[in-house]
Amino acid sequence: MVSAIERGIMDFIGAARPSIADPFLPNKIKEGRHEDIRECIGCNICVVGDTRFVPIRCTQNPTMGEEWRRGWHPEIIAPKKSDDKILIVGAGPAGLEAARALGQRGYHVTLTDARREAGGRVILEAALPNLIEWRRVADWRLTQIKKIENVSFYPSSPMTARDVLEADAPHVIIATGATWRRDGVGRGNARPLPLDRNIFTPDDLMGNKLPSGKVLIYDDDHYYMGSVLAELLATNGCEVMLVTPRPTISAWTEYTLEQGHIYKRLHSLNVTMLPYHALLSFAKKSAEVSHVLTSTESTLPCDAVVLVTDRIPNDALYHELKPALAEGKLKSLRIIGDAEAPNIIAQAVFSGHLAAREFDEIINPDETPFKVERVKIG
Ligand code: SF4
Repeated sequence: MVSAIERGIMDFIGAARPSIADPFLPNKIKEGRHEDIRECIGCNICVVGDTRFVPIRCTQNPTMGEEWRRGWHPEIIAPKKSDDKILIVGAGPAGLEAARALGQRGYHVTLTDARREAGGRVILEAALPNLIEWRRVADWRLTQIKKIENVSFYPSSPMTARDVLEADAPHVIIATGATWRRDGVGRGNARPLPLDRNIFTPDDLMGNKLPSGKVLIYDDDHYYMGSVLAELLATNGCEVMLVTPRPTISAWTEYTLEQGHIYKRLHSLNVTMLPYHALLSFAKKSAEVSHVLTSTESTLPCDAVVLVTDRIPNDALYHELKPALAEGKLKSLRIIGDAEAPNIIAQAVFSGHLAAREFDEIINPDETPFKVERVKIG
């Protein structure tokens, strides 16, 4: 953008989503603070509010839509109220944002992650087809954290409850993410399905454990993951069938304006798309499915099934630490992000930011934590 203006190609550039992700973009360009620009990742979560009539959200900028409601400034946050130390376990989108914002407030924060690389799900998902921009969620936060002396990051550091209690931090925030289910339970199935071997989950595929041959992807999640994995497997030589109980493929992407592009891409990769069908079982190289309107059952030959259904919070450490809180060994214990409730990345970032804003504050659970617009009629 700067280059286009400096070379005289354009006089003026209007940037909508980049300004949502970072309302101070022009100032940062002017001041030469390019590394401080919080870059838009192109996820279109912001546009969902237009069609769903809910307050706008931004994956990169958790203060978007909360400027008036909660009084949140995108660049300014209240200074610390104590010298207490905080330990954050998990450096995914929620943990990174909590560490960054608490560090900005001036708190002494120790951030740990079991993996060698920070970023959690955003780093794993960024390696999937066409999701490379997801990395920016981690990259911006890590760049900021590196500048904050009072935040220390320890990668390759899995933490047990004992490790946490020995870390000498009275406040603990758990941000340990979530794990994709392997039993078929999801929106459509309340009970585990009878499933043979050769069952894969998105976590397997993101860990480079890929099926081969004829693969049925069962998408009961309805956002981008099912179609992205279909693309991954099709480009790796698999014959892919994408099955979903919804009337359309990746139904929720209608709200992010991505659905048309997804259909085009899957058609170009010869992915077979089968909406209106629920998975019943998988055994001996064939899956049984049922039409959700007519209940007609059919058999689909396949070598493996990938389940994109639901995620389970990784909250064991939080529950192990709860007695320590009750015994007064910890001053506070909070769980955030997907570990609290698996959701979209925008919600994980928001959850981390909220935890940082609310830290050391007195929260009245009986009060609505934001202002509500009341329109006067007449
Ligand atoms: S929600 Fe996503 S697309 Fe919209 S401005 Fe934020 S990062 Fe960009």
